[in-house]
Amino acid sequence: MQRITILGATGSIGVSTLDVLARHPDKYSVYALSAHSRIDELAAQCEVFRPQRAVVADAEGAARLAALLRARGVHTEVEYGEVALRAIASSPDTDTVMAAIVGAAGLGPAMAAAAAGKKVLLANKEALVMSGQLFMDAVANNKATLLPIDSEHNAIFQCLPAHYGRSPEAAGVEKILLTASGGPFLNRAVETLGDVTPEQACKHPNWSMGRKISVDSATMMNKGLEVIEAHWLFGAPAERIEVVIHPQSVIHSMVSYNDGSVLAELGNPDMRTPIAHALAYPERIASGVAQLDLTRIGTLQFYQPDFERFPCLALAFDALRAGGTAPAVLNAANEIAVQAFLDRQIGFRDIDRVVARAMDDVSNTGAVSIDDVLAQDSLARESAARTVARLAR
Ligand code: NAD
Ligand code: MG
Repeated sequence: MQRITILGATGSIGVSTLDVLARHPDKYSVYALSAHSRIDELAAQCEVFRPQRAVVADAEGAARLAALLRARGVHTEVEYGEVALRAIASSPDTDTVMAAIVGAAGLGPAMAAAAAGKKVLLANKEALVMSGQLFMDAVANNKATLLPIDSEHNAIFQCLPAHYGRSPEAAGVEKILLTASGGPFLNRAVETLGDVTPEQACKHPNWSMGRKISVDSATMMNKGLEVIEAHWLFGAPAERIEVVIHPQSVIHSMVSYNDGSVLAELGNPDMRTPIAHALAYPERIASGVAQLDLTRIGTLQFYQPDFERFPCLALAFDALRAGGTAPAVLNAANEIAVQAFLDRQIGFRDIDRVVARAMDDVSNTGAVSIDDVLAQDSLARESAARTVARLAR
């Protein structure tokens, strides 16, 4: 039995993970679940999966969850706060941690899982963007196993040799080809992008996801964060990572080798595939995803990305090339900008302005201790909040 902790159990990835686990009760048991604010959903999950522990954001939420569980006769221990999140991620009673909290809030618990040598299934790309070096060091120094859940990185992982040593040259890898759907505004007239609503931005053509990553997909900041994520996961410099627009999202990414071979991983766009892959790795288990029928899809298209339509993608490449704390600044400013857009304070086209301004405002300390990262993250949030206040309509 693999004992699983899910950080962010009520989110899109968390729910998909529980869906896969429910298909294999003989192989997996749920040790702990966490949620931020959706207490009723978490209570329902605890009733079905009977975890030993559940963690929420604050005392009020914990009291409400405890009352719901008592009424249903569920004996899950209820805790709250960051220390408790780290504890369920690093407990000796768990083997595998699904890191599926959204944003910088996921960094601490994901790091705790890596430091405790767990099998870490990483959906929370922001953790790797903020502090990639520290995270990869924590994995290596503590013999943790890191498996990517992001569909592109999971695809690349599957297309690399089994004992890939984090060196593209040594493995004959010319390029990592990250596919991107282009999001809901791929073909919309650029002049009209300023007018789009949060509802339109969150309506992704192929994937159903949380609101933050949906907006990131519409700006293509998501792909930018994924370029940085690929850099850390696979030891690839920016020059070896190429973004290819592929609107059907059937090819989840590719690896191009020096002998001319290109390996791709294909499938229906459903996160249960990478989740099942990582849970069972190196074996395979059923995920509930329908088999791909290429004859029904018929056509696969590919385009180069337009950096003028998607300035956030260019900003992310800039941050990767700058290194140091630049990616943490990019990520923090983007979180503030996306929330301000979702709250209708700023327009869609303001998101890249907020991020660009923060990257100008906040110095790159070069060093990347966790204190440096968190300090520049705070400064970036302050800069972004100032720009939002100026742009707010
Ligand atoms: P979501 O918004 O649906 O869920 C987020 C989860 O995090 C929820 O369970 C929520 O309770 C928890 N959470 C939110 N804020 C928190 C905080 N401050 N402290 C503790 N917990 C908090 O998001 P999602 O779409 O499931 O995405 C989760 C992560 O996975 C993100 O980093 C995203 O980039 C990544 N990811 C998602 C998908 C997808 O298809 N949804 C694909 C690839 C990668
Ligand atoms: Mg992805």
